[in-house]
Amino acid sequence: SAKEARNSWKRYAIQMNLKAKEKLLLENDLRIALELGQFHLAYQPLVDLEHEILVGAEALLRWSHPQKGELPPSEFIPLCEENGFILPLGEWVLRNACQQMKTWQDKGFPPIVMSVNLSIRQFRQHDLCERIEKVLEETGLSPQWLELEITESIMADVTFATEMLERLKKLGVRISIDDFGTGYSSLYYLKRFPIDKLKIDRSFVNDVLTDRNDAAIVSGISAMARNLNLTVTAEGVESAGQVAFLKELKCQEAQGYFFSRPVPPEQFLSLFELDKGK
Ligand code: C2E
Ligand code: CA
Ligand code: CA
Ligand code: CA
Repeated sequence: SAKEARNSWKRYAIQMNLKAKEKLLLENDLRIALELGQFHLAYQPLVDLEHEILVGAEALLRWSHPQKGELPPSEFIPLCEENGFILPLGEWVLRNACQQMKTWQDKGFPPIVMSVNLSIRQFRQHDLCERIEKVLEETGLSPQWLELEITESIMADVTFATEMLERLKKLGVRISIDDFGTGYSSLYYLKRFPIDKLKIDRSFVNDVLTDRNDAAIVSGISAMARNLNLTVTAEGVESAGQVAFLKELKCQEAQGYFFSRPVPPEQFLSLFELDKGK
């Protein structure tokens, strides 16, 4: 009936209103959180499989929310991308991660690469290169130790992507394609883009020992990367069996809980120490 329809519409409207309010609250929270220093970075090691050494760290964002506790990026990054807050937040991540790496270098730890996730919105900023250059200058980190992780989504605008990637390359930073295999990518542009690394998405690595299709995909991407002279990293490696399989494929690098979960910077230091013993 018309009355039922009206009531259900009302319920819907009330729900939407609540959702909007929740969002507004969270948006406000975001700005305050950045000011109050509630964001921090966890670092996960990247390991060279052949030599079994630490070669890199990926910076992963966390939010210590005063009421909700420790929030993973999945709980707030989508909103940040929607409302544009990812721009100041992403720049905070970049500055913090570069600062951290410089601190480690100054302490005399062997040099490794710092990987930072770059949102598509950040990538589309026309002054991205200037911003990165400024952060590198301010923190004193040499560009060769910074790697930017972007997703295949940048290929939606090939002309812009090519130009931006070339400018970034000139700056001296490294570029990797994150979650490789999950998005739209043209192998043609893969060859033409000045990129350094492919990171094989965790969803392919998960069942690599039991699923023949996944095994074929991981093996295929590894071989292709090698032929294109790109580094390849397997993401989400959780078991010794997977490590053995990836070594067999001559997959160069791996990252995952098998080696370490993302950890606070103080804890990451012990991963350097392990290395020194070798
Ligand atoms: P990602 O870039 O693919 O990062 C890897 C994610 O996989 C991390 O989740 C990490 O904790 C998780 N992971 C690593 N090893 C394993 C494993 O062996 N098994 C399983 N099941 N998971 C593993 P996290 O930290 O929750 O981050 C999720 C996503 O949020 C990231 O995926 C990235 O897309 C985004 N993100 C994180 N930090 C930032 C940031 O600073 N900026 C932007 N734009 N995005 C970020
Ligand atoms: Ca990543
Ligand atoms: Ca990834
Ligand atoms: Ca991801």
